[in-house]
Amino acid sequence: MVVITESSLRKASKLQRYSNAFRPFKLFLILGSLASIAFYQQESLLRLRLWDETEKYFGDTPGPYELGSHYHVEISDSSENTLPPGFKTHAYKIDKTKRYDLCAIGAGLSGTVFAERAANYLGQKVLILDSRPHIGGNCYDFVDQKTGIIRNQYGSHLFHTNIERVWKYITGHPKAPKWRRWYHAKFGYVNGDYVPIPVNIQTVNRLMGVDIQTEEEMNAWLKNVQIPCPLSTGCENAEQMAKSRVGEELYKLIFEGYTIKQWGRDPKELNASVTARIPVFSTFDPRYFADKYQALPEDGYTAWFAAMLDHRLIDVVLSTDFFDHRKHLEQVCDKIVYTGPIDTYFASEGMDKLEYRSIIFTEERHYNHPGYILPTPVLNYPGLETNYTRAVEYKHYLHRPSNHTIVVKEVSSAEGDPYYPVPTVRNLKLYNKYQQLANNLEQSGKIQFVGRLANYKYYNMDQAIDNALTMFYKTAPEDKNMDQ
Ligand code: UDP
Repeated sequence: MVVITESSLRKASKLQRYSNAFRPFKLFLILGSLASIAFYQQESLLRLRLWDETEKYFGDTPGPYELGSHYHVEISDSSENTLPPGFKTHAYKIDKTKRYDLCAIGAGLSGTVFAERAANYLGQKVLILDSRPHIGGNCYDFVDQKTGIIRNQYGSHLFHTNIERVWKYITGHPKAPKWRRWYHAKFGYVNGDYVPIPVNIQTVNRLMGVDIQTEEEMNAWLKNVQIPCPLSTGCENAEQMAKSRVGEELYKLIFEGYTIKQWGRDPKELNASVTARIPVFSTFDPRYFADKYQALPEDGYTAWFAAMLDHRLIDVVLSTDFFDHRKHLEQVCDKIVYTGPIDTYFASEGMDKLEYRSIIFTEERHYNHPGYILPTPVLNYPGLETNYTRAVEYKHYLHRPSNHTIVVKEVSSAEGDPYYPVPTVRNLKLYNKYQQLANNLEQSGKIQFVGRLANYKYYNMDQAIDNALTMFYKTAPEDKNMDQ
């Protein structure tokens, strides 16, 4: 259970009143007269620094908390929700009379990029197929029927990138819905307190009982606790990587339990890249990501996918498994882009299976609760006293109003839909063997293996798009290859 105590709510409520007192400042901000402003909460629960970059949008403090208000809590699993397909021109059956230049298997990011590029850039006839009843892959979101809240089906997705061509790609398509700047910031619930994650000055002050005030002091503190990785090898695993950044104590409080719960194994067994994903800030910067572009699609991800696939040359077929139609598709598709799990594609080879992590979602629905339950959109639970890793309250995103709210908790699992490749030595070695098989087939020019599951890589959204663009342009005819 998420433990939200009376005292934490009271603290948060005070914080909200404090935030209200600062409303006039927001006016200044909206007028663009201040480039950045920092404000401090008396009880030092929270210290946020908000930025004004190119757009006049700012992160916000949490609230309002409705202490003592009446609300009804219902615990259910996500499958109770209706899943509007979010796309107006789709079918549930393959038209057996048609031939295609390209068939994209999987309507997630990689398949969608290929389908969109093939239709718009090469003028090709495209089929995009998904075994699920919707487009968007794990980015899929929808308007919850009972509360009006836009929420993801498969966990929170925060877009962030430093890759210019990816930003241009997602925002530049003539039909692309608007993206709004959104700086993700989250707390972890550690030792009964809310602390910013990733580690920043405030995290250290609150957990270590120190009073660091400057970047120099923070750098000195970090240097003193960091355990450098061996010079000869570099950081060899996720534990070494985390300790080389934050030292032993913070590793134990923030990384160890979370990583064990998330991956179901000792952090020593995981590739260093896993914990390298999380930065450490020597400032009060509360943002989860440091990237130049951080944004959410205003109308949700599904609307973005729908716009990208909305083309007279693209046929979208849902609830249809590729493997039930493989023979037919191999005959009628000049080329196939396969974005599913690579070991499923080569199942008939009888090789060992790759491991994946899945997520089990449990949601609590709070009706007649206009405020928030969590202090941040995502609250991490690094400790081993809970089996869940985090809770997400979707209403926070883009500050969408609703009289209700939904909190979804995530428990990692070895069973279920594959979400994460598991980067252990065993899996990476095994993947190399599958990759060899894939490379051999790709020589024919009739198939390409693309994406998180087919390439067995822990891609972020922007990396998945960038990788798909690179793979697409690799085989696009030279003379048309102009807008890379
Ligand atoms: N991590 C952690 N504690 C946290 C957040 C992250 O130990 O509070 C580690 C954990 O191993 C996790 C990895 O960092 O799997 C990557 O975290 P990220 O938030 O990028 O995970 P994702 O959003 O992809 O699930």
